[in-house]
Amino acid sequence: MPSIGVIGCGTVGATMVAALAARHEQFGGPGELVLVDRPEGRWRGRAYQRDTEAVLANGPMIGMSLYLNDAQHGVRWAEAKGLAVHPDERGVHRFLSRPVYGDYLEDGVEEALETLRAAGWSIRSVEETATGVERDGAGVVIRYASGSVRVDQAVLCVGGRADDDAYGLNGTPGYIDDPYPLREALAEVPQDAEIAVIGSGMIATDVLMALRAFGHRGRVTLASRSGLLPSVRRKAARVLPAVLTAERLAALPRPVRMADIAALAREEVEAAGGDFAAVAADIMDPAPAEERLRRQLDDALSDDIGTQLLQRAVIEIGQDLWLALDEGDREEVLRTLHSRLWSFASPIPQSTAVKLVELCDEKRLRVRAGIETVERDGDGFLVRYEDGAADRADLVVNAVTSVYRPEPPSAGGMLGLARTSGLLADHPHGGIRVDEVTGRALDTSGQADDHLFVLGELTRGAYYFVSAVAAFTRRADEIAAALAELPAPRARDAVPAAG
Ligand SMILES: Cc1cc2nc3c(=O)[nH]c(=O)nc-3n(C[C@H](O)[C@H](O)[C@H](O)COP(=O)(O)OP(=O)(O)OC[C@H]3O[C@@H](n4cnc5c(N)ncnc54)[C@H](O)[C@@H]3O)c2cc1C
Repeated sequence: MPSIGVIGCGTVGATMVAALAARHEQFGGPGELVLVDRPEGRWRGRAYQRDTEAVLANGPMIGMSLYLNDAQHGVRWAEAKGLAVHPDERGVHRFLSRPVYGDYLEDGVEEALETLRAAGWSIRSVEETATGVERDGAGVVIRYASGSVRVDQAVLCVGGRADDDAYGLNGTPGYIDDPYPLREALAEVPQDAEIAVIGSGMIATDVLMALRAFGHRGRVTLASRSGLLPSVRRKAARVLPAVLTAERLAALPRPVRMADIAALAREEVEAAGGDFAAVAADIMDPAPAEERLRRQLDDALSDDIGTQLLQRAVIEIGQDLWLALDEGDREEVLRTLHSRLWSFASPIPQSTAVKLVELCDEKRLRVRAGIETVERDGDGFLVRYEDGAADRADLVVNAVTSVYRPEPPSAGGMLGLARTSGLLADHPHGGIRVDEVTGRALDTSGQADDHLFVLGELTRGAYYFVSAVAAFTRRADEIAAALAELPAPRARDAVPAAG
């Protein structure tokens, strides 16, 4: 029977377990599943941990199913619990809070494990962080502090998005380097503290929602390079891209250029009667944050579905677009377009946007572009900008997720060793090199490994769009399919593994 190790049991690990359960009948027989991660917060990961309910999932439940081929799975779970997840009568999406979505992940994985157990699989849990991963004959040895386990195949799902200490402030009193869990990091912040948040994306929005819920009354400045807030989610609409499709993409000459994609995007929006120039201007030449926020909120119920079509296309074929894109264009995206693209592609709920506008009205929120440095200044901080301006703050909260963000410290040792041994290789655009069709790790000679797979944030260099649950379920399914196709392992060779 095959034994499969899942290293890292956060959200991405959850999608891997669900994908194995969905395909269990395609394996030659029941196998063994070995789950390796510390016990705290399993399946919830960082984003959906038990924390304040003031932060919402930014995707509707229909797009966040654990199962690639059962989009309604999460919706059914929510309905059974009496939770509202369908758009209201005006078409405004409703969202679960992130901790409640975490409940879904926990329940969904339990259901998947039950499916596997019922089919004869054995489930083993190693409640420790992996410290090493090594190839051993036709298998993989996963090491951890108290021992090791040998499996036939392993999938690395250790996450990413470690916050970047861009200004060397870690350990400085008054500097909050990681705002999660929000309740622990922010609930005790003095009510009238002047706060600077480094970053203006989704994590910064979380910080604002949490501070508001915890009764903070002072001013918050979001200071980032781009000065861009996430866009505001528009009303629910049945959108199915007819132009930005896998088929049309496949028909384009290689390598695909940004101009080709822009032409398809124009055709897509205009075929639906939308205003492409307006959508494109909002992405390429966005207005200052507060003005853009107010306008997007005003437009959120518009019948022009151009924005929703393009956002849908990012989910459907964003990774394929990235894989087909000209190398120079990819570098250009990473260098100059990244913040604008992510602001567009990861919209926040309208209810969150309404609260942001209220904070602006009350002069408790401002968004500043062109951050240059943050330095200690007496018992506070000074945030300096490219235009020479500077803001004082009592506290600084780190909410940066840069395009070249580092790996999680918990996995750094293991990944470092695997790189040194040649088992894993760096992708030039970040993360680890993988075979782009199957998710197999590529070693330093470019050889795909039948025994080691990589899923999630570590594959960001290869696929770029690696932050949505829908993107994980697709790749998890491909890995499960590849695992099911592998020949059954022969009897184990030598090196007994400690338990
Ligand atoms: C604030 C925030 C909000 C988001 N909201 C949404 C949303 O609404 N909708 C959406 O689709 N996406 C959202 N995302 C994106 C996406 O869902 C998350 O990025 C996703 O949860 C990432 O999951 P993960 O498992 O890769 O990482 P993590 O959640 O970080 O989990 C990684 C796991 O790996 C474990 N691990 C690390 N090192 C080791 C090791 N050495 N050995 C064993 N285990 C290890 C960790 O303990 C952890 O359990 C959000 C992301 C963030 C950060």
